Amino acid sequence: MPHFLSKSDFQVARSCGTKLYYRKLNYPSNRDEDEFLKMLAQGGYMLEAIAKLLFPEGVKLTEHTDILTASRATIDALKAKQITLFEATVWSKGKYARADILVKQNQVFHLIEVKAVSYNSEENKQRLQEGKPNIFRSLRSPQQITTDWRTYLEDITFQVCILEELFPDAEIVPFLMLPDRGKTTSIEGIPSLLKSIGNRFEYCGDIHKLRQDNFLTLVEVKAEVELLKPDVQLSMQGFLQSLQPELSKINTPISYHCRHCEYRHPNIDKSGFHQCWGNLAEIKPHLFDLYYLNEKIANPLIQQGQVSLGDIPRELLLKKDGSIGTQAQRQLIQIEYTQTATEWIDPQLFHVINSCQYPLHFIDFETATLPLPYHAGMYPYEPVAFQWSCHTIEQPQGQIKHTEWIDLGLDFPNFKFAESLMQQLGTQGTVFIWSHHENTILKTIAQQLERLTTYHPITNQSALKKWLDFRLNHLANNQSTFVDMCKLTQKYYFHPQMGGKNSIKAVLTAIWQSDRRLQEMFPEYICYIDHQLQSPYASLPPLIINGKESVIHAGTGAVAAYHAVRYGLADQEEAVKSQWQKLLLQYCQLDTLAMVMVWLHWLHLSPKVES
Ligand code: SF4
Repeated sequence: MPHFLSKSDFQVARSCGTKLYYRKLNYPSNRDEDEFLKMLAQGGYMLEAIAKLLFPEGVKLTEHTDILTASRATIDALKAKQITLFEATVWSKGKYARADILVKQNQVFHLIEVKAVSYNSEENKQRLQEGKPNIFRSLRSPQQITTDWRTYLEDITFQVCILEELFPDAEIVPFLMLPDRGKTTSIEGIPSLLKSIGNRFEYCGDIHKLRQDNFLTLVEVKAEVELLKPDVQLSMQGFLQSLQPELSKINTPISYHCRHCEYRHPNIDKSGFHQCWGNLAEIKPHLFDLYYLNEKIANPLIQQGQVSLGDIPRELLLKKDGSIGTQAQRQLIQIEYTQTATEWIDPQLFHVINSCQYPLHFIDFETATLPLPYHAGMYPYEPVAFQWSCHTIEQPQGQIKHTEWIDLGLDFPNFKFAESLMQQLGTQGTVFIWSHHENTILKTIAQQLERLTTYHPITNQSALKKWLDFRLNHLANNQSTFVDMCKLTQKYYFHPQMGGKNSIKAVLTAIWQSDRRLQEMFPEYICYIDHQLQSPYASLPPLIINGKESVIHAGTGAVAAYHAVRYGLADQEEAVKSQWQKLLLQYCQLDTLAMVMVWLHWLHLSPKVES
C-alpha cells in the first residue's frame, strides 16, 4: 500500500520534513495526548457544525475509510451541475484532503475551509480604509503573509492545488470561514444548544434564527492562495518523493526548531527526537532549558554539538554593545545558580514583601474561551469566568483562610463572579496574582458591564464598576493593589530546579522539594512515587467519572472539565457534575495555596521578616 500525502501530513511536514517519516511509521506524538489541542479540536467541531448549518442545501457523503473509494464518491457527486458537499474527499496523484464545504456551481467551485481562528472584520475593514493590506498580510513591504495566518492559508492552498489538478478547466475560489470578533449574536447560549455526538455536534436551537444572526464571516483568500501556491507545490512534491515509491527520511539538520518537537518520547526506541539528536538528546541541564532561548543563541552552539546549559558562553547573551539586557541578566543567573545548585534571591524582594498591605489575598481564576460566543451579546473567544479561589492572611503570622466560588450553571457567570469576588476582597490589602490573567479577566468584566447588562442584568452595577475601577487602577504606596508574583519571581528569585520556567507549578515544585518547613505545614500534599517526592499537584486525588479515573492538574484540564459539565454528556447528571466540581475546587484551591507556599518560602529566606 503506497503512502499518500494527506493535508495533515503536509501541515506536520511543513514544520519539519523529518517528522513526516516518524508520522508515517506511527511514532508516538505528544500532540496525540495534548489536552490543549483536544480542547481546540472540540471548539473546531462546534464551529464546523454551525458553519454547515449556513448551507441548508449541503449534502454529507457516506463516510469511507478507504481514500480512493471516498474520492470516487466525491467525483461522482460532483458530476451534478450544482451541488454543495460537506467533507468531500479530493485525491490527486498521491495527495488528498477533506474539504469542509465545497460548493459547485457549473464550472465554479467555492472551497470553504472552516477554521477556529480568531478574525476581526472591523479591524480588517479599518486597515483597508487606511490603505493598508488586509489582516493576513504584514504591514511591511512586500506585504507577505504573516506567520500567524500562514499555516491556515497553506492548508487551503494545499486543497486548491488538488482541486486544480482534478478540474483544470474549473475556477476554484477559496474562502476561509472564521469566527469574527467584530460580530456578536443575540442568541443566548449557543454552545449549550449544541449536543455532542462523538466528535460531531448537532444544533438544537432555532436554525433559522442562527442563519440570520451568527458570528461567522466568510473571507475570500484567492490572492493569498496564489501567493503561496508555488511554495506549497514545491513542498508537496518534495514530501511526496519521500513517501513514494518507498518511505524515506528527509534529513533536516537539528536546530532551535527542535525544542518543541512532538516526536520526543520517553521510549527512546520510538522517539524521533532521540533519533535525530542521538547522544545530544539527554544532556542535562540542556540548552533548551535556558530562559528565553532564541535561534541566535541556540543554532551556533547546536552546530558545534555544545548543548549543555553550561556550554553557553556569556558573550553570546550580551547585547552588541556588551551591556546586559533584562533577559540576559536572568539567563546568566540561571546558568550560574544551576551550576552551583543554589537558590538566588535579590534582597529587593524583601522590600516588596515589606511594602505589601495586610490582609494579603492570593487569588486564582478559572476561565474558559471558545471560538463561539458563550452567551448573548458576547464575541467569539470572549472569556467566561466560572471559578475563583482565594487564600487570605489577615495579619502577619495570621491564619491562612480559604474561600472559593464556582458556577457551573448555564447562565452568564461573569457578573456574579466579580460580585462575589468583590465581597471577598473588598478594598483592603494587597492582592497577589500569578501572571496577568486575573487582571485581564477583571478588565474584560469591567468592559462587559458597559456592554452586556441589557442581556445579562445586574442589580449592583455601579458598586461593581466602582470596585473594579478601584482594584484595577488604584495605587497603594505607589504600587498597584495587584502584585504579580510571577513578575517578582522573574526579577528577584531563582531556584535551580525551576530551569527556565516561571509558572506557579514549576516554582512550587522546585521549592517544595527543598523546604521541609512547608512539607511539615502541609503534610496532606506530600506524595511519593518510587521514593521520589512529587509536586503537591501529584497528590490531588483522582475521582472516577463515567468509569474513568479523572483528575485536574492544569488549567487546560479545568476548562475541559467546565465544558464536560456544560456541554458534554454529563450535563444532565447531577452526580457527575458534582464529581467534576470537586476536582475543579481542589485544583483551584491548590493553585492559590501554592502561591501562599511560595510566599512563605520567601518569608523563610527573609533576614528581616519573621514568618
Ligand atoms: S528532532 Fe528536530 S529534526 Fe528531528 S523530527 Fe523533531 S523537529 Fe525535526
